[in-house]
Amino acid sequence: KMSWMARLKQGLSKTGQSLGGLFVGVKVDENLFEELETALIMADAGVEATNHLLTALRTKVRKDRLTDAEQVKAALRDILAEHLRPLEKNFPIDAAKPLIVMIAGVNGAGKTTSIGKLANTFQQQGKSVLLAAGDTFRAAAREQLIAWGARNNVTVISQEGGDPAAVAFDAVNAGRARGADVVMVDTAGRLPTQLHLMEELKKIRRVIGKADGNAPHEVLLVVDGNTGQNAIAQIRAFDAAINLTGLVVTKLDGTAKGGTLAAVAAGSQGVRPVPVYWIGVGEGIEDLQPFVAAEFAAALLD
Ligand code: GDP
Repeated sequence: KMSWMARLKQGLSKTGQSLGGLFVGVKVDENLFEELETALIMADAGVEATNHLLTALRTKVRKDRLTDAEQVKAALRDILAEHLRPLEKNFPIDAAKPLIVMIAGVNGAGKTTSIGKLANTFQQQGKSVLLAAGDTFRAAAREQLIAWGARNNVTVISQEGGDPAAVAFDAVNAGRARGADVVMVDTAGRLPTQLHLMEELKKIRRVIGKADGNAPHEVLLVVDGNTGQNAIAQIRAFDAAINLTGLVVTKLDGTAKGGTLAAVAAGSQGVRPVPVYWIGVGEGIEDLQPFVAAEFAAALLD
């Protein structure tokens, strides 16, 4: 099996022309900058990030009189790493006990998979995990989650067809009563028509706060790294409704939109640069990695 870095690298270079590939055997001239601009836009880095990165690169090339394409590539890698660094943040697993984590994301983003990966990660750190099956609309998903919990030593609080906010409330109380370290509150990614997802999420957030005044301590959005500009719109909408504290960006092993995180870091289209706690780099339970700006930049540009 390929290493996760290799998979990340392969995913990020699916733009047809990989960013790193643009530097092979070329002269450092205006043509190179134009190709870089096109490639960054194609990778959904957005106009703001693209301009910022290329302005910084031009300045560096001029100042240090870089004439070798490999040097320019290394310079861009460093500039990108620095640009992405504000998104890097360790997940504060010990900030509260239990740590109450609300998790949102549209269906298909990889929410269920990511919750499994997170539970596994926390357990490996010696933490006990309790899960609230807050997507009460998908009966099959609920049952799947319960079965999964039984196999993985994770208590799952659920309620058939119940009120998701009530499930969340019960879970927070159960987490406290059982001395759990982490309570993850799953939420729906789509509602039956007539109901508004954002209103429901706000309600869940409010009700969690009633069970524990400081909670939720973390509000995560799981977002598909393949969706580019759409991911930006999702982050903005969920952030406006439930005030996100962090992101899990999935499917970066298969994406053609590696620039999305650069757009987030640049505050593109009014998005708040929400920290990226983890990235998903595969379908397996272990395919979750902390986001490290320098690693990401290296994967995009090596
Ligand atoms: P949900 O509807 O948001 O709960 O999405 P799921 O967790 O069911 O995931 C949807 C699909 O995406 C499934 O086929 C997952 O295996 C896949 N998936 C989730 N995360 C990743 C990832 O990081 N990499 C890859 N390649 N696939 C992923």
